[in-house]
Amino acid sequence: MDTASLRRGIERLIHMHSSALIPGILDSGFSCQRCGWCCRENFKIRITKDIQRPSNAISIFPDDIRRIIRGTGMKWDDVAQPDTYSCLSDGDIMWAIGWILRRNEEGDCIFYRSGACAIYEWRPMICRCYPFFMGEKSVDIMRCEGLENKISQKSAGEMARMLKRYEIKKLRSYIGIMEEIGAKLSSANLHSLPKDYSGDVLVCDGEARKLRHLTPWIKSSTGGKTSVVKYT
Ligand code: SF4
Repeated sequence: MDTASLRRGIERLIHMHSSALIPGILDSGFSCQRCGWCCRENFKIRITKDIQRPSNAISIFPDDIRRIIRGTGMKWDDVAQPDTYSCLSDGDIMWAIGWILRRNEEGDCIFYRSGACAIYEWRPMICRCYPFFMGEKSVDIMRCEGLENKISQKSAGEMARMLKRYEIKKLRSYIGIMEEIGAKLSSANLHSLPKDYSGDVLVCDGEARKLRHLTPWIKSSTGGKTSVVKYT
């Protein structure tokens, strides 16, 4: 994948009317049952031979984090952590490619409380779209306990618009990340953050402008102290 093909993908999406996605969404019969399937760690997904990703390691945009901060008053590092399942060693630099929602010791999203999302109003775009992702021709549907129920035409239309916005944002974010990291970014070079790693982690999230802060970050897996350098 290169930036030119990502740009073509964005153009295609911009010119596609979101109503094209409605039939696939209507057919799914999706209605959220608040089962928490997408919020809890259910299994690991093998991405490469070096990367096993928990099913709920949820990639989020910096804008998602800012919205949650605005809504809750929480701090950046309490909402999100570097994507430790998607790292790149570059000489002395350890890059994490993007952010994921913070997870608790059981591996659940920290916002999944008493069987519900505690930040429903401000939840990330990916959570708003689940279980739908954009497929080649229509929507792809992920595993979900809320399928084969009923979804109204209005809700399907809203979901279709959200999905289109999400997919465009995702491609723009990929372009930003590729422009920041350059040719070193390839799935063959990605790995999980070594468990014994302690040092700086620079987060590449496609918004590089200038260095803003360096904050101590306690890795829950090892208890080791690591600093996160965030560019925003
Ligand atoms: S933010 Fe809310 S909807 Fe998204 S994974 Fe966490 S609890 Fe679930």
